[in-house]
Amino acid sequence: MPGPLEGRLALVTGASRGLGAATAVALARLGADLVISARTIGGLEETDDAIRAAGGRASLVPLDLRDGPSVDRLGPSIGERFGRLDALVANAGVLGPLTPAGHILPDAWAEVIEVNLGAAWRLIRTAAPLLLAAPAGRAVFVTDRRARMPRAYWGAYGASKAGMEYLALAWAEETRNTRLRVNLFDPGPMATRLRLRAMPAEDRSALPAPEEIAPALAALCLPEENRHAALISRAPSPGG
Ligand code: NAP
Repeated sequence: MPGPLEGRLALVTGASRGLGAATAVALARLGADLVISARTIGGLEETDDAIRAAGGRASLVPLDLRDGPSVDRLGPSIGERFGRLDALVANAGVLGPLTPAGHILPDAWAEVIEVNLGAAWRLIRTAAPLLLAAPAGRAVFVTDRRARMPRAYWGAYGASKAGMEYLALAWAEETRNTRLRVNLFDPGPMATRLRLRAMPAEDRSALPAPEEIAPALAALCLPEENRHAALISRAPSPGG
């Protein structure tokens, strides 16, 4: 479909629902072809339907981001099949347990760190060669203000996002003299499953839908976007 991202390919993780699904559709509206990934095949198919309705096309990659070797194969297989990758949206995330730090169980800790931090490292490793070869490679890492505003019981999630932010910004420093642009995006509270788990009693009607936030994230993948190592935040000010 015609648009500023026509002929370009974007990989979006966590695209089975929530912000990832909405961002994939927003990128399709800008003309991008998509590779969409998550564990839930039915969710990926729903996103695929929405992308087609927007005039775009997607390849579906069912994948558990805790499966390191499969993440490692992602970049080479995208390279073999499409010969390029122009944008990476590292969006998938899990909340993990909201519990005192000393009560976090090993399996829960491992999942949060592997999905929110470890997968970011694996995605950088696997996607970097293609993104650096692209005429205007873009990488966006979805974060949360909890990375910078610690709160009781949010230790696992906040630590994983803080680590991910550091890693992404270190990579941004390493790639400063390339065509690649690497940024962080904090969507702020949205009416998604993750938020519902965190705040089950909250009035969801007061929160923006991910579809309202996604265009700002997708815009970070445009060739004219020149920010680098920036934190683009939609989160309300402290206390909000
Ligand atoms: P969501 O609706 O729960 O979506 C999370 C996505 O991550 C799903 O597509 C899920 O797919 C995927 N995912 C989770 N574990 C995975 C795994 N092991 N392997 C592969 N994919 C996995 O949450 P959301 O609110 O859209 O979250 C998107 C991003 O925004 C996250 O990074 C989150 O931290 C961030 N964020 C959200 C809020 C908020 O208020 N919602 C605020 C600030 C930041 P499957 O379950 O199908 O695998």
